[in-house]
Amino acid sequence: MSYNVEKLHAKQVDFFLKSNPFSIKERIQLLQKLKQEINSQEDAIVEALKEDFQKPAFESMVTEIVIVYKELDLFIKNLKSWSKPEKVSSSLLNFPSSDRIYHRPYGNVLIIAPWNYPFQLAINPLIAAIATGNTVTLKPSELTPKTAALLEKIIKNTFTEAQAVVIQGDKEVAQQLLNLKWNFIFFTGSVPVGKIVHQAAAKNLTPVTLELGGKNPCIVESTAKIQLTAKRIVWGKFLNAGQTCIAPDYVLVHKNVKPALIKALKEEIIASYGKNTIDSPDYARIINSSHFERLKDLIDKEKVEFGGQTDAETNFIAPTLIDDPKLSDKVMEEEIFGPILPIISYDQESELSEIIRSYPASLAFFVFTENQAFAEKIMTQFPFGGGVINDVVIHFANEKLPFGGVGNSGIGAYHGKHSFHCFTHQQSVVNHKTWIDVPFRYAPYGNKLSWIKKFKNWL
Ligand code: NAD
Repeated sequence: MSYNVEKLHAKQVDFFLKSNPFSIKERIQLLQKLKQEINSQEDAIVEALKEDFQKPAFESMVTEIVIVYKELDLFIKNLKSWSKPEKVSSSLLNFPSSDRIYHRPYGNVLIIAPWNYPFQLAINPLIAAIATGNTVTLKPSELTPKTAALLEKIIKNTFTEAQAVVIQGDKEVAQQLLNLKWNFIFFTGSVPVGKIVHQAAAKNLTPVTLELGGKNPCIVESTAKIQLTAKRIVWGKFLNAGQTCIAPDYVLVHKNVKPALIKALKEEIIASYGKNTIDSPDYARIINSSHFERLKDLIDKEKVEFGGQTDAETNFIAPTLIDDPKLSDKVMEEEIFGPILPIISYDQESELSEIIRSYPASLAFFVFTENQAFAEKIMTQFPFGGGVINDVVIHFANEKLPFGGVGNSGIGAYHGKHSFHCFTHQQSVVNHKTWIDVPFRYAPYGNKLSWIKKFKNWL
């Protein structure tokens, strides 16, 4: 597929200059049109995700399509009220004035999306960007070509090229796009590519949101309800075959409950996917052979407690539990991003800190415990993007919570109203009245200094 990237970009630059401010009514109509289009393509989306990596239909509905409808409905319902200028009280120093915050679109937005939730991680930022009056150029991941082609079709059927366009391609195409001047860049993907995007954006001082990854710890303390803990971990870790940025990367379990946890994890894996996961219709595949090989290489056969089976032909890796790996083992070096779960036991709380602090700030953080004081204490000790007590992953589903990382796991946050703020510049405007002009600020200052010293706390 070849695109005239410069020409499409110029079209969007021109459109934004001429159409800004693009009316809210028109934006809502576009969102409604997008909803209809997605609705009519629902089966095709599920099919594309299945063809790309055998994503189960249920997971496609819940983790891709429903999430997009929710975001669309929220914006359609609230855009008008969210977009109103916010009146704030004015400063006595400027008396008399009326002061407002306006939510302005940045302009031309570039969105670069990953492959693991290739539909919603592309469409949800686009919804917010369009709703707030920006133009969008979206580059989906080349690793999910069926979904990328469908995204292109959906966007083409909904928007003009000047409003929103999909450009398919690999990293060369992404580089070509990054060489252009954008007003905002929204990137979801790996930490190394996030750094490349940040560097490219810096050339034009373009603001960015970077939604990245990391090694997410999952602590199981001795008071945790073990069977329920195992059920929730198995669901969140093996959903999408472990290819979820907020999946638990590794478990840190108190030594007293480790045997019980391992037993319960095995039971829950079998209960979810049967004895032969390869035959389960509810288990996705690894995205491609190079990720398959990377993951296979992380499995140290000596330490496999459960699973470990692989099939190169279908990029299948079974849910795998690794018992007590060392921090120097390959599986503990980097984000796993696959269905392999290392389980490390601890005795003293200080060991938790030692292990967690040996990695950069994670995107997510999970703790299972019935000891609320422990949960609250442990959650304040480490930097992380978002966390859950007694479950995994589910913070993603509440659009009232900002979703994003900190430090190495990302910059900025989005979802729901946070997405509205993510894609707008908060512009301050003071309307200073002219019916009176208080002379206090003007030179000559005379004895105004002693007056200001006296009344400084009142201003
Ligand atoms: P990736 O960084 O390899 O690719 C992401 C996008 O960047 C793709 O569209 C790709 O074509 C493009 N790209 C790749 N190399 C590039 C380069 N050199 N220059 C410019 N663009 C380039 O990531 P991925 O493999 O698609 O996704 C997996 C990673 O994404 C994991 O680390 C995961 O944790 C993270 N992730 C984060 C979130 C989040 O919301 N924070 C969500 C999903 C995935």
